Amino acid sequence: MQSSRTRSASDFVDHQPEGRFSRHEAIPGWSQKRLSEARVLVAGCGALGNEVLKNLALLGIGEIGLIDFDVVESSNLARCVFFREGDIGKLKAEVAAKCIRELNPSVKTKLLIADIVTQVGAGFLEAFDVVIGCLDNIAARYKLNRLCRMAAVPWINGGIDEFCGQVSLFYPDESACYECTITTSMWQRMYERNSCLLPSPRRTKMPIATTAILASLTAALQVQEAIALLQAPTQSQPWPRMAGGEQLSLRVSPYEMSVLHLKRNRECMAHWGTAPAIGLSATSRQMTLTDLLARNEMQSLEVDWDIAEALECPTCGREEVARPAWKIEDSDLACPHCGEQRRPHWINRIDRNSFPAKSTLADLGIPNGAHFWMTSCTGTVHHAKLPLEETL
Ligand SMILES: [Zn+2]
Ligand SMILES: [Zn+2]
Repeated sequence: MQSSRTRSASDFVDHQPEGRFSRHEAIPGWSQKRLSEARVLVAGCGALGNEVLKNLALLGIGEIGLIDFDVVESSNLARCVFFREGDIGKLKAEVAAKCIRELNPSVKTKLLIADIVTQVGAGFLEAFDVVIGCLDNIAARYKLNRLCRMAAVPWINGGIDEFCGQVSLFYPDESACYECTITTSMWQRMYERNSCLLPSPRRTKMPIATTAILASLTAALQVQEAIALLQAPTQSQPWPRMAGGEQLSLRVSPYEMSVLHLKRNRECMAHWGTAPAIGLSATSRQMTLTDLLARNEMQSLEVDWDIAEALECPTCGREEVARPAWKIEDSDLACPHCGEQRRPHWINRIDRNSFPAKSTLADLGIPNGAHFWMTSCTGTVHHAKLPLEETL
């Protein structure tokens, strides 16, 4: 039998007091300094977002960006570690940012209360080393993929359901991107939700059956991948990690984990025109598009969303308008003269002398920091961007 003795206080003070990150620093190849300088953007502050943010805060990431425009609802409370009963009705991003600072006061937070689909310019993403997508629908992922490619930032997509989690890594290069993976039925679902004939208020929210368990498992893998990516430049022997265009699937019933190499779609439009963007001279969202184009000696501008240039009534004819799809309401579609349903005419390219060009950038749905393509009078196409802050 082993003899026992009472431990004295001196048994516990043999070594130096441990720093906050001493357990991290014991990991071979770990650079806490690299993480403390890193900037990570999280798009979506729901179930996945909460778990991702919690891990990033604990890991001591230097700056965490949060994009979300939703408010906390009671159905979030069973899956979101940061939200309390008293937070119902408050902005998710604001509540989460406050909790991050409580968890680790050295972490800086940067908030953007905006809809990723319509209100975020790629310029906002440029300041970050990596983006983690914690979104719950195809339209938002499609847009985030486009934004990340234009900002030339890698992103890690996450998705969950009741028994399965998926994590994919996308680089702004020639490997497969999220848009490459959109199948015909996914496009159809996206159109049904965001149909050109179904304005934004009718974008319905389908609840996803899932639990905090799947959210934390999947989010942990997303953050593991982000850490591997951030640590890579400082490691002599980089940790094994996913390649761009790979997808990790995790299943808990039955238990299974696999990595799939996603196929690049040669027709995918997201790979077009990823040349570095030229910064436009000082502008403001109050400026008209005609002025912006004239000032930069350009002939037309092309965006990756639909803008209605006219509403056409079968009886009364055509009314010129200049509005992005999400700003067209039911009431706009009913003809004010005869009440018949009007059909919008959609465009993506706006010419300097056309009717829509007389609108302000804000009215056309062009956010600060937006990237787009401009064609010069000689026909050369340029990838251009607006400043992030409004200036004149
Ligand atoms: Zn693609
Ligand atoms: Zn009419």
